[in-house]
Amino acid sequence: MKWISLLIALLLVSCEIITELGPEKTYVIISFDDQHESIYSTAFPVMEEYGFRATNVINTGVIGGENKLTWSQVEELEFEHDWETAGHTLHHITLTTSPIELVEYEIYHDWLNLKDHGLSHSTFALPSGKANQEHYDIILQYYHNVRTSQNIATYAPIDRTDLGYYVYLTDYTAENVKARILQAHQNKECLIVIGFHRVLEDADGHPTNCKPDDFYEIMKFIYDNNLEVITIKEACELLS
Ligand SMILES: [Zn+2]
Repeated sequence: MKWISLLIALLLVSCEIITELGPEKTYVIISFDDQHESIYSTAFPVMEEYGFRATNVINTGVIGGENKLTWSQVEELEFEHDWETAGHTLHHITLTTSPIELVEYEIYHDWLNLKDHGLSHSTFALPSGKANQEHYDIILQYYHNVRTSQNIATYAPIDRTDLGYYVYLTDYTAENVKARILQAHQNKECLIVIGFHRVLEDADGHPTNCKPDDFYEIMKFIYDNNLEVITIKEACELLS
């Protein structure tokens, strides 16, 4: 009887795995924005459990603040666990409503902080997803890769200065992200960027909080479906 229970167990496991995920490759990027402390305390141990690495999008002007990542955590994530660190302006300013001199200062000094700490400094994520051509001209003086906040389909060769992003919102569950990944695969998109911010049980008014159980379920789904998780920098080198 033992083999029957084994067979049933195997069937149950295989039912959980999406059979539609076939040979065409859809890379997954996991990004974390805005240096929430829970990225290190809650999300990082789960990432380690599955052997995943992320792109850590930070505002270097507020690192070490209350409930924020510290420099030593940011450095550990990149130097010991091979995460990518990315710029996001010093203080998360909205580019489109700020004087251009401030935009220039915030972008340049954020980039310089990354560089001075020996961290990756080739990727920039638009704060609040907003920028015009004038801002792009400044960003591209320092960075090679730009992540927007647009949930767009991405095909190779990718435009490394206009990368899409699917942001996890507080009222989502893991099912929303699973459906988006499945859609990306069915559409033969070469890449899907999943964006997280805060990973805590209580959203506490934050619009982009992911509960730890949902975060775990999403990582397990990516792992169970053998999807390869890479950083933005790696994706740009591989697919552009
Ligand atoms: Zn942000």
